[in-house]
Order: sequence, then structure tokens, then C-alpha cells
Amino acid sequence: MAPASPDEPQEELRCDFCGGSSSHVRRIALDDGYDRLHRPHQEQYACPDCSRDKEARRQGGA
Ligand SMILES: [Zn+2]
Repeated sequence: MAPASPDEPQEELRCDFCGGSSSHVRRIALDDGYDRLHRPHQEQYACPDCSRDKEARRQGGA
């Protein structure tokens, strides 16, 4: 049985929002009319900070 390590370092990924590189980014599907003319479900990657920011805005934060 090989122990699964969820925190093993991955290849460097880049945040689409702040442009910073992070080993952990979260895939976010923008469907709130953000870029509706382009793609209905454009996926972008956000670092933990930006991800949290996006969540806050989606939930009605000013
Ligand atoms: Zn970011």
C-alpha cells in the first residue's frame, strides 16, 4: 500500500489573478458574466489568497 501524500510538491503553477506563482492554486470557473462573451465557463487558477478574495466577492461582499 503506497501512502498517498496530498501535500507533495507539484510543479509550479501561476495564479491568473495576481500573476504570482504558487505551488497550490485552485481552479475557478468564472460564470458570473465575467467573460460571458468568450466562454460560458472559463477556468482560471487562483492562489489561496486570490481564491479567498473571489469567494468573498461572490458571496455579496462589496
Ligand atoms: Zn493570486
